[in-house]
Amino acid sequence: MSEGSGAPAPQRLLLVEDEAHLAAGLRLNLELEGYQADVASTARQAGEFLLTRGGYDAIVLDVMLPDLDGFALCEKLREAGDHTPVIMLTARAAAEDRVRGLEAGADDYLVKPFELNELLARVRSMLRRRRWERGEEPARRPKVLTVGAAVIDLDTYEAKAHGSPVHLTRLELDLLRFFVENPNRVVSRDELLEQVWKLRNYSTHRTVDNFISRLRRHVEADPANPTLLVSVRGTGYRYVP
Ligand code: CA
Repeated sequence: MSEGSGAPAPQRLLLVEDEAHLAAGLRLNLELEGYQADVASTARQAGEFLLTRGGYDAIVLDVMLPDLDGFALCEKLREAGDHTPVIMLTARAAAEDRVRGLEAGADDYLVKPFELNELLARVRSMLRRRRWERGEEPARRPKVLTVGAAVIDLDTYEAKAHGSPVHLTRLELDLLRFFVENPNRVVSRDELLEQVWKLRNYSTHRTVDNFISRLRRHVEADPANPTLLVSVRGTGYRYVP
C-alpha cells in the first residue's frame, strides 16, 4: 500500500473475538501499539475478511466462537495454504487443548484471562519471528531448507517432498528446523516438547512421535527405514544429516 513512501506500513492484525467488550479493548490497545487491527466477531466474518482484505501479518483467534470453533478455523486456514501466524486465545488451560491448538496449526496460545502486556509481547515476538523467517532480520539465514527429500522455502512456506508439493504446518517446520540446528545430537521427547512445543512437564510423548512420523514421510527416502530422523531407543530422536 504505502510501499516506498517513507514510513513503513503498519502491521495488520485480524482479531477474531465475539465478546464485544474484550474485542474493543484489545483492538484499542493493539492500535496504541501501532498495529492496524480488524475485528471479526464470527469465524465466518473472519473468513470474509481473509478473502476480501487479506494480507494480515498475524491473527489473534479466540477458540470459543458462535459458529465454528477456533481450532476448526485454524485448521481450515492451514488446509487452504494460509500460513499467517496465529495466536489462539483459549479459556481452557488443559494441556490437551493447547496441544490441539498447536496441532491445528496455531503458532502460540494464551489462556484467558491473560494480561494485556503478555498478549502484546506474544504478538510482537510472533511478528519478529516471522520477519526473521522471511530473512528481514539482520541475522540472515538461508531461505531454503533442504532436509533429505524435502525442500522448504522459508519465504513462502512452500515445501516439496520427493518432488511434489506438500503442506508443512508451522510446528512441523519448527521441529524440522530444531533438528537441523542440532545435528547428530540425541534429543529426548521431553526436550522436543519443551523446545519446540513450548510445553513443560507434559507427560504424553505420542504427539512427538506422530509429528516425527509425518516429517519422515516428507524427508526420508524410505520412511519405514528412516536414516535421517533416527529413533534412539528409550531416549528420543537424532537427526543425522
Ligand atoms: Ca469467545
